[in-house]
Amino acid sequence: METMNCPMCNEYEECIDHVLVDCPYAKKVFEGISSWCNVNMEAFHMVKEVMKFASQWGMCHRRSKLLLIVSYGTLWSIWKSMNERVFRRNRLPPDKVCDIVKSLTYLWVKNRGKVDRIEWATWSQCPLSY
Ligand SMILES: [Zn+2]
Repeated sequence: METMNCPMCNEYEECIDHVLVDCPYAKKVFEGISSWCNVNMEAFHMVKEVMKFASQWGMCHRRSKLLLIVSYGTLWSIWKSMNERVFRRNRLPPDKVCDIVKSLTYLWVKNRGKVDRIEWATWSQCPLSY
């Protein structure tokens, strides 16, 4: 059986943990998300590590939930970006993926109505200030 290389870095064998978290491309995205959230999320190698960290992070349940939403949004956007790469040969720069995460998670939180008075200006600066 033929093994596939990661479509983003073309170096490592493609597996979900690599593509979404451990790939240098995913790491770049997490770097941007870390500085946006002011929470260090750069040291992970596996999806379950990211989810575990986010669900246990912080002392306030509400903020931890926001970080969890941001984490889902980040993984989802990296996945979408990989599909862009594979099916449309379009390579989105990691900072563009970060921008997508910011607007996507803003819409998720806003539409679910769990956070009062959520404003884009504040959200785009730091999503954990709520
Ligand atoms: Zn890779």
